[in-house]
Amino acid sequence: MPKNREAARASLENLYRIFTVPEAPDSTLGAIDQAISDDVAGFLQTYIVAIERSLEEIEAHFSSASIPEEPTYVSDYTEFVKEHLVAHSVHTAAPGFVGHMTSALPYFMLPLARLMTALNQNLVKVETSKAFTPMERQVLAMLHHLVYRRADDFYPPWIHNSQSALGAFCSGGTIANVTALWVARNRLFAPDGSFRGIAQEGLARALRHRGCDGIAVLVSERGHYSLGKAADLLGLGRVNLIKVGTDAHNRIDLKLLREECRRLRERNILPLALVGIAGTTETGNVDPLEALADFAQELGCHFHVDAAWGGPTLFSDRYRHLLGGIERADSVTIDAHKQLYVPMGAGMVVFKDPTALSAIEHHANYILRHGSKDLGSHTLEGSRPGKAMLVHAGFHIIGRKGYELLIDMGIERAKTFADMVRQHPDFELTSEPELNILTYRYCPLKVQQALATAPAGQRAAINALLDQVCQLLQKHQREAGKTFVSRTRLRVARHDQELTVLRVVLANPLTTDEILGAVLAEQCEIVQQPEIQALLQQVEANFY
Ligand SMILES: *Cc1c(COP(=O)(O)O)cnc(C)c1O
Repeated sequence: MPKNREAARASLENLYRIFTVPEAPDSTLGAIDQAISDDVAGFLQTYIVAIERSLEEIEAHFSSASIPEEPTYVSDYTEFVKEHLVAHSVHTAAPGFVGHMTSALPYFMLPLARLMTALNQNLVKVETSKAFTPMERQVLAMLHHLVYRRADDFYPPWIHNSQSALGAFCSGGTIANVTALWVARNRLFAPDGSFRGIAQEGLARALRHRGCDGIAVLVSERGHYSLGKAADLLGLGRVNLIKVGTDAHNRIDLKLLREECRRLRERNILPLALVGIAGTTETGNVDPLEALADFAQELGCHFHVDAAWGGPTLFSDRYRHLLGGIERADSVTIDAHKQLYVPMGAGMVVFKDPTALSAIEHHANYILRHGSKDLGSHTLEGSRPGKAMLVHAGFHIIGRKGYELLIDMGIERAKTFADMVRQHPDFELTSEPELNILTYRYCPLKVQQALATAPAGQRAAINALLDQVCQLLQKHQREAGKTFVSRTRLRVARHDQELTVLRVVLANPLTTDEILGAVLAEQCEIVQQPEIQALLQQVEANFY
């Protein structure tokens, strides 16, 4: 293949060229570029080579710590990328890849993402983004409207108002959750008389000002780990992220929640926020949001809903009611790179009160001046890409009804898969799908029946063996590379014990019932391996 020699040799002339000359179509990069443009799915299918290779073997090609001294040819570099990076990437768009929240992308995201890169706008300030700033504000208003359903005439005064923000766009659910709790914290310790607010004076003085010994965030034990990071970062301390037990449907137990609050009062700890989850990461369940809204009101604390995964369910006329009460939340997180089908690195948080974000407002002299419309004055991140354009594109091209179809399909497919699992003699459903996520494990019917009556000690021993089966099963399936499910550990109410379970997320519209059948068939084949059979024999031995 003829090489593009342009970027070779460090000379001024060659440097000019790498900033201006496009790659020749017959070069490696040109060919990849073309293949992606012609048919992304085909490209991924061909270029990601699903051969078993250990991470250690791959690491060997990424082990030098020195930056190359000499420039190289673009094509030489691209050959490396093709062979060592692309070939061993994960085919997250494959319809049989049903283990994680990352799925296929609509084709138009790719050229638009390219356009976004070409424009290279920086959303931190209007001076480097111009039209992208109003576009991002509109996207946040659209999301706000989806969540809060305010009348159309609510928006004009706020949408492009320099004094306010309906939400913040960021790199994902983690930053969205941090932003929400940051706002809650700064509002709890707002300036008051001689106290200039926590943002100025810090947590120690803020606590003294309020006469309390700490602040806490309450969430169910299914809460996402990003809340732990937020508790750490905002100075609450991870022990003050109170993880409340859940009921048989993985929803926060309101009785236990009340008890936790009582304990906090006894310790003179102020509840900062109550977090409801709309679509738990592991099981896809939704907390009783209406009841949580009532309770937050009673406590007088911030009510945040982490709808990073489940938020887009609001598009569905049929399933929106599952999130009833979300419109009473003070803030709501929704990830764009999950069920809005935007490439990785996009999340949002919206606030019911359009002035709430002023609690974290920050100004600088050269940008983010007072009264400017610079988005960076109320975002945690500084420089940011124009990712909102991809959400804007999804909203227009897919539309409310398109997203509704995707949501409905996912939920219905999860129900179908749950039926397949239930009817299969070798599997046990460990969480019913409420949205499009479910968990199950390998556990033959006669073992299920024996477990139902076995004494606690025996049950624990058997479940420990089944945990190992589950772990090996998932590992072998991942390594074979045909289909993929993930695995987690959950306390399963029926067993009153934490179990290792397989987790399936059904968001790829290309996943068919046949593929799901094949996932189970492959698992039945994998358990025939001697290593797993030996464990299953030990399970049997436990009964006699
Ligand atoms: C994915 C997820 C997050 C974190 O989002 P990132 O985009 O990974 O930072 C938070 N909460 C829930 C419920 C999630 O599913």
